[in-house]
Amino acid sequence: MTGETLQVYFLGTAGALPTPARNPACIMIRRGSDTLLFDCGEGAQQQMMRARCGFTVNAIFVTHWHADHFLGIFGLVQTMSFNGRTEMLTIYGPPWVHEFAETLRQISRFNLKFPLQSVELSHGSWVRFDGYTVTGFGVHHGLPALGYSIEEDPRPGRFDRERAIALGVPPGPLFGRLQRGETLTVEKDGVLVNVKPSDVMGETRPGRKIVYTGDTRPVIPALLEFGRDADLLIHDATYDETEAGRATEFFHATATQAGEAATAANAAILALIHVSSRYTDATGHLRDAQAAFTGTVIVPDDLEMLEIPYRK
Ligand SMILES: [Zn+2]
Ligand SMILES: [Zn+2]
Repeated sequence: MTGETLQVYFLGTAGALPTPARNPACIMIRRGSDTLLFDCGEGAQQQMMRARCGFTVNAIFVTHWHADHFLGIFGLVQTMSFNGRTEMLTIYGPPWVHEFAETLRQISRFNLKFPLQSVELSHGSWVRFDGYTVTGFGVHHGLPALGYSIEEDPRPGRFDRERAIALGVPPGPLFGRLQRGETLTVEKDGVLVNVKPSDVMGETRPGRKIVYTGDTRPVIPALLEFGRDADLLIHDATYDETEAGRATEFFHATATQAGEAATAANAAILALIHVSSRYTDATGHLRDAQAAFTGTVIVPDDLEMLEIPYRK
């Protein structure tokens, strides 16, 4: 089974202030034909042009209502209208999402050409999509704020073709019926026998999981509940260890704390984002996180795309 592609575009990786190299927060996740945005900082639409990933956004999930995480929605909505969008756009987020949507409708009064819907999420609320679920979890940023876990449904186990044939199932359409969970009655050496899916299918395999914390202090209990075994953990790493005091003061995490979170959650890859504009490069961040986490650590540049493979 090949499955769906799962891609993450880092469209904006800056901290609160943009820099010439980094735009404010915006993560695009594409799975199959679905496109979701997680935060949409100022200039997100031009980043989408630069990354050539298009504007067919199905929904926007906002982590919290600091302007570096939502200002891009205004321009994006204008462009979507201009491009003739007619489908509903849903904006999900913590409390104030309805007020935000109302403000957006007011400001876009002469531009908005499609219906806009807002849905408030809280710790543990989830949204179902075809084949995966987005779940919000509470984080600690000094105002209502959510991280999000994007988790695929488990995949069916591997089909044992040889065993199916040995049990009397002829190759062909009956294989597909077994894979879809049907029990079959087949003739084997002149006797009718039942073949159950569990006779020929291995154990179900976990789907892929991406976790995005948004801006936050370390929230390991929430990550243990919602982010365990993430294939990719995208974590606030505003500061390196030399500014740990500022991280506490401004409700952000250091790269060390992001590394500790990735270790606790048993993540495969840790992506450090929301890097403060005070740093000219992120070598300190990388070094700090690598000291706390033995998996892969990246500090993605804007426009970088990561494809998430199925686990072996
Ligand atoms: Zn921010
Ligand atoms: Zn913030």
